[in-house]
Amino acid sequence: MFDRPRTILIIDDDMIAVRALYESLKASGYRLLGARRAVDGLDVARRERPDMVITGIYLPDMTGRELAVMLRSDRRFVHTPIVGLSDNITMEERALSLAVGMTGFIEKPIDTSTLVEHVDYFMKGGRDGVVSDTGQLEMARMVYLRDVVSRLEGRIRELEESNRELTELDRTKDDFIQLASHELRTPLTLITGYMRLMIDSPELSHVMEDENTQMLFNGLADSVDRMQVVVEEILTTSRIIVNRIELNVRETNLAELVMAVIDSYREAMQMRRIQLHFRQTDWPTEAYVDPEMIYVAIRNLVSNAIKYTPDGGQVYLNCAYNTDLIQFSVRDTGIGISSENQASIFKRMHITGDIQLHSTSKTAYNGGGLGLGLSICSGIIEAHHGKIWVQSEGHDPQTLPGSEFFVELPIEHPEAVNQKQRKPYSASVVQDVAN
Ligand code: ADP
Repeated sequence: MFDRPRTILIIDDDMIAVRALYESLKASGYRLLGARRAVDGLDVARRERPDMVITGIYLPDMTGRELAVMLRSDRRFVHTPIVGLSDNITMEERALSLAVGMTGFIEKPIDTSTLVEHVDYFMKGGRDGVVSDTGQLEMARMVYLRDVVSRLEGRIRELEESNRELTELDRTKDDFIQLASHELRTPLTLITGYMRLMIDSPELSHVMEDENTQMLFNGLADSVDRMQVVVEEILTTSRIIVNRIELNVRETNLAELVMAVIDSYREAMQMRRIQLHFRQTDWPTEAYVDPEMIYVAIRNLVSNAIKYTPDGGQVYLNCAYNTDLIQFSVRDTGIGISSENQASIFKRMHITGDIQLHSTSKTAYNGGGLGLGLSICSGIIEAHHGKIWVQSEGHDPQTLPGSEFFVELPIEHPEAVNQKQRKPYSASVVQDVAN
């Protein structure tokens, strides 16, 4: 007699057989576990360590023989009875199953009058026969190996095909995003233009003097601005993704460029009482970069620093450079970033907060966005053959450990720049840049 109920794992998708097994064995005091697919069965077996495994010969994802091989290769299941539910299988198949480690068979349809006796027999160490003829054993193993390899080959082909289809789908999706954002950009530019014309129109000047009308127009202008930023972000990201980012590298006054970024956030920072520390003389006045792209990258870093720092916080823009390298950083006294998230935030669409709370605001505390800003930064910096990474003690909105984003840009000789312009950018945006 056994002290505790013995556990049997039944792996099969033939529910008629499973039900018959379940009802009879349950009534005899066995504890039963079940799985329909071999991979799930393997998980259950590893977790629950059953005293016996009953498996169908042809499971949806592998054969019972393959499952037996997997279990037998695990030290914990060397002696566990593994019984096949046979359904008119040939003598060769039986020999093959025994050769790869099965203990025996229970015939389908299940004969419930002898089932428990049969199961007890296997449970106590009984076997349905051992293949002792070494030639036969070798043959069986060879056949088995051939089957496994040919199934593997089939799976590889299937995977290659679905991989090809997915790549194609991904390309179609990228093309669609590019096309859609292009299409959105044109009417948005027109809306901005018409709005400006209306505001400046002498015929409408008396209407514009009205406070309510001004408020309406300001609200409209703000919304269009935000929409334009989002469309530009999507467009830049999709260009980076499909490697269509073309750098227009030229001599750039980086100090002035950073000043322009700061100016664009001055009002927002005032409203949120955020102090920004920046010494213009620390920044190079002659750098060979794509000014539009670097502007976008720095703007994203500064807007994140503002966004993830509570009111009254500090943002520091530091820079040092020599003849080979410019290194700058954007440091804040904000909520910080956990070490698990430090690599993934550079991946596209990775956002750490609750998306329900996200807005597209670039400056509202914890405002969030599309999760594109840092992947855009990373794509732009990489296109300049530079590096971007983050340092933060962790994420804590109470103690505010802050974050510091570092960027390193190589200073290239103007002659090398032309070469860079010609060279297509081929880096992947999804990358681990934290190290
Ligand atoms: P988002 O548009 O959501 O800000 P980003 O790609 O710019 O997307 O940033 C991705 C995520 O990284 C953000 O959702 C945020 O959780 C985190 N993050 C970025 N910058 C900072 C920062 N300075 N401080 C804290 N967390 C940050």
